[in-house]
Amino acid sequence: MTSVQDETGVLAGDERMLIDGELQHTSSGATFDVIHPASEEVAGQATDGTVADMERAIGAARRAFDETDWSRDLDFRYHCLTQLHEAFERNKEHLRRVLITEVGCPVKVTGSQIESPIEEVRHWAEHGKNFEYLADNGVHDTPMGPARRKIHYEPVGVVGAITPWNVPFYLNVAETVPALMAGNTVVLKPAQLTPWSGSEYGRIVAEETDIPAGVFNVVVSNANEVGAALSGDPRVDMITFTGSTATGRAILAAGAPTVKKTLLELGGKSAHIVLDDADFTMALPMAALMACVMSGQSCILPSRILLPRSRYDEGIEIMKNMMENFPVGDPWDPNNMQGPQISQGQREKVLGLIKSGIDSGARLVTGGGIPEHLPKGYYVQPTLLADVDPNSQVAQEEIFGPVLSVIPYDTDDEAIAIANNSIYGLSGEVSGGDVDRALEVAKRMRTGNVTINGKSHFGIGSPFGGTKQSGLGYRNGEEGYKEYLEAKTIGMPDTAAL
Ligand code: ADP
Repeated sequence: MTSVQDETGVLAGDERMLIDGELQHTSSGATFDVIHPASEEVAGQATDGTVADMERAIGAARRAFDETDWSRDLDFRYHCLTQLHEAFERNKEHLRRVLITEVGCPVKVTGSQIESPIEEVRHWAEHGKNFEYLADNGVHDTPMGPARRKIHYEPVGVVGAITPWNVPFYLNVAETVPALMAGNTVVLKPAQLTPWSGSEYGRIVAEETDIPAGVFNVVVSNANEVGAALSGDPRVDMITFTGSTATGRAILAAGAPTVKKTLLELGGKSAHIVLDDADFTMALPMAALMACVMSGQSCILPSRILLPRSRYDEGIEIMKNMMENFPVGDPWDPNNMQGPQISQGQREKVLGLIKSGIDSGARLVTGGGIPEHLPKGYYVQPTLLADVDPNSQVAQEEIFGPVLSVIPYDTDDEAIAIANNSIYGLSGEVSGGDVDRALEVAKRMRTGNVTINGKSHFGIGSPFGGTKQSGLGYRNGEEGYKEYLEAKTIGMPDTAAL
């Protein structure tokens, strides 16, 4: 296997989408450009699918669910997903280059976006193979005599998966593979900025697995209305979505007329409470690093740093040093850890939010603009804002850039109140010398997940989901698999137990 360093350079992905087992262009032949964000140059094209293409894909998925035995043949699904895992392994370096080309993610940090999701395919194949799809719920007294109840876990049906651009290959896998293993059929709609991580997935399914026609479809498009067509179609039983809270609300509303099951992983504005007994030399360089790798384009990023007033200047100095020396630049260079923002529009949004912070009284400690040595590419300097008003726009809105907002506090109670002052509740972090005290603070954070002293909450074996306006339902863990199943209870005479 060659390494990516041996074959650096942009690599265009497959232009085609996968509908009903056929790799195809949209009938008009229309395409849209895919831009490499590090050079601002067109790297290639993707087919520009239409609502009609989406409707064909949904029809194919519906037929595959209703008329084939995909939903009932667990051994065959295990066989197909094992093939998919092996096929992804064979295509690993190709997928990595496509990812770097369309996202601008630094090669050095692609492990969590390539190796991890490939491993997740194997995980879900094994998990699904060993899952208990039938549970005996015991005998219950009823007016008609004793009833034995058994719970049958059955697939939900046709699952529509809508994914964002920040970690596209990972989320394409995370949203579809457990759904497939559980016996559902799937229509994937990748984000406009990252069509190839989706189209390559479709190509690999078509060319290198026995997954039957219609079971897995990918509709590539540059139009939001194509995602909207998926989230509103009555033939779709469930939508799984990762993206902005605004789009999540639209998807919920579109699914309401047909009461669609909806799994949403939305925005975040996570807080990192640094307690006064924390090891600042451990916690704060890592906090700055987390803001810069992936260019801050991560929903779980703790982007609000809450520092005790007694050690405020000391904390700011550590993060400032880290950010000023952070290796920003060409994502193909293995020394760099921060690449560009994904698009010019995203860069403008980040720079605009930094300006709004300064306008509302925040102090710019470092960064705030475009790196001088990088005139090409959508780069933003690692940026530290101090004295941020917890109610200001920059403290309330998700920035999706390499930006930390520092807020001082006096007591643990005040820190918790500031952390919870958000419409979001995705993740949180606490750093402290006394782990019991840190745990008490973590328990009072109104978020789906918390990391204490850098020990991450995130992993395939543990449920991950947001509270408040950060989401509905879970990915990962037993909870994450059950999202793609209905629990059907069948009551029957108690003859089986005699
Ligand atoms: P961003 O604003 O950062 O591009 P979004 O949350 O809007 O992120 O987009 C994430 C995904 O949602 C993309 O695949 C996009 O095409 C899709 N999308 C956008 N608008 C809608 C909508 N109204 N209904 C369904 N999907 C949508």
